[in-house]
Amino acid sequence: MSAPEITWDLSELASSITDPKINRMITDATAAADTFERKYRGKIQSLTPAELLQALREIETFDIQFGDVTLYSSLTFAANMTIPETQTLHDRVNKLEAKIGKQLAFYSLELGKLVKRKPEIIQDPALANYRHMLERVQRRVEHQLSEVEEQLIIEKDQFGVDAWEELQSKWLNTRLFEVTVCGEKKTLSYGAANGLLPHPDRSTRESANRSIYGSLGKDGEVFSAALRSICNDWVAVSKRRKYTSPMESSLISNDTQQNVIEKLLTTIEEGSATYRRYLKKKAKLMNLSVLGNHDITAPLPDSPEQQFTYEQARDLVVEAYSSFDPKYADAVKEIFSRRHIDASPRFGKRNGAFCASYYRGKSAYILQSFNGTLSDVFTLAHELGHATHDWYVARNQTLLNTHMPSIVAETASIFGELLLTDLLLKRAKTEDERKLLLCLVLDEAGMTAFQVTARVWFEQALYASIENDEFLDYKTICHHWTQARDRIFGDAVTWFPEMEAEWSMKPHYYMANYRFYNYPYVYAQMFVYSAYERYLQQGKRFVPKLVEALSAGSSVSPFGIGEIMGLDTSESDFWMGGLKVFKRFVDDLEKIK
Ligand SMILES: [Zn+2]
Repeated sequence: MSAPEITWDLSELASSITDPKINRMITDATAAADTFERKYRGKIQSLTPAELLQALREIETFDIQFGDVTLYSSLTFAANMTIPETQTLHDRVNKLEAKIGKQLAFYSLELGKLVKRKPEIIQDPALANYRHMLERVQRRVEHQLSEVEEQLIIEKDQFGVDAWEELQSKWLNTRLFEVTVCGEKKTLSYGAANGLLPHPDRSTRESANRSIYGSLGKDGEVFSAALRSICNDWVAVSKRRKYTSPMESSLISNDTQQNVIEKLLTTIEEGSATYRRYLKKKAKLMNLSVLGNHDITAPLPDSPEQQFTYEQARDLVVEAYSSFDPKYADAVKEIFSRRHIDASPRFGKRNGAFCASYYRGKSAYILQSFNGTLSDVFTLAHELGHATHDWYVARNQTLLNTHMPSIVAETASIFGELLLTDLLLKRAKTEDERKLLLCLVLDEAGMTAFQVTARVWFEQALYASIENDEFLDYKTICHHWTQARDRIFGDAVTWFPEMEAEWSMKPHYYMANYRFYNYPYVYAQMFVYSAYERYLQQGKRFVPKLVEALSAGSSVSPFGIGEIMGLDTSESDFWMGGLKVFKRFVDDLEKIK
């Protein structure tokens, strides 16, 4: 008998895609947007604090109502993308969202002007709930240009610097790659060839790596032209916007400071010796004298994959969360009892996994394709962490305080993964099981904390080059890439010469106006590892601190979130704490014969 399908129950939002309620919600949202516009367009700049409070509350009420219909349409679509009815609704709601977004864009522009003209309004007691949100508006608005300049930038970017991103993805999607798969020559699309990078057969991995990066390198001058233009464009825009560095825009979005990030990256560099120690141990486990670049995240040879049923996975995650604190697992249990998870793999379902918050229902919805692997169990624990975060935020914050920047948005999710790791380590019956588990966790953390740090250095080097009037040709860019990479990997990995072109396939580097996507991943990982280290020291005393930090949502800065837990993110010692957790896993692995 096959397992029953695990689908989510969306009836809290609408009974079905033909529910007349959906049309009603759309009509109501359209009318509410019109009312808001009539009431406030052109007037926000002259509002008193009490009136502004009223306007912000109205925006929240509108967003909560409209949230139901956008959530329903995106969830039904993600679960069944090929059904015409879900496509039609998705398209209809998307268009409505774009229309309303344009219609209400005046609100944030006028709010920015108000805060710029009357900064004292931020401190008004009437607006205490929104103080930090307004501080963030203020930090952003300082770098805004005139309305005409902003419009011109958008218009010119659309067919200018933004087009490089399209060119890069077109290149990747229209090329074919010759790969030898287990001895058999195949011609594959980029997606298929890329899927072979973690293949269990080592020579298949080598062939896929050499084929992909060899081809990219042949067109290296094309990719360099793209990257050079994007970076130079960003330097010019940054100067016009009076940013003190090319990183500042990203620091503002992440609600953090340069000195905090510098401390973080320095600590990672110091800790990279521990990562190399892991990579050398992994080489031994793979019977190699040294790892090749194609082995870094490869599965261990001859290690049978453990399989889990969905029920086993559910019980493990509930137990892991309960081990921290029984009440802390309430959100997780509720997601299961309200059937807010769509877990079965099916044709037409969106790839990957996500957690979508459901503010009005004070809950969330989770989508994943659960195939029973250990990594699927971790994905479940991760997404349920997001749901736990949403659970606390929805109960303690108004909607405008639920927009956490990415550096703290992963707090509960990564914390949940660590709880699961420790539970599984305790439970493991054989050395092989422990080995597999530790390698899975260390591969993942190694990528996120260490490899990504090299990418931050690479990006910094590109801007330093421009500052020094250096010309970013292909070889110069490759030099920056391999130098940054080697600062992390040192003598622990040998690289195919083709890998100098590795940077050219990373889509993020081609996203104009979205620079330094990378350090938030490092921050998120190390912030939670460091918090977890405190938990191990303090035990149950740490529980209310984490709960309070999660409950704060975006009403305080990431620095303040750290303070709630008694953590000082501006101190190197704090970041070192995170490395200790990583080191403990490496020590555990080294003890295994
Ligand atoms: Zn996440």
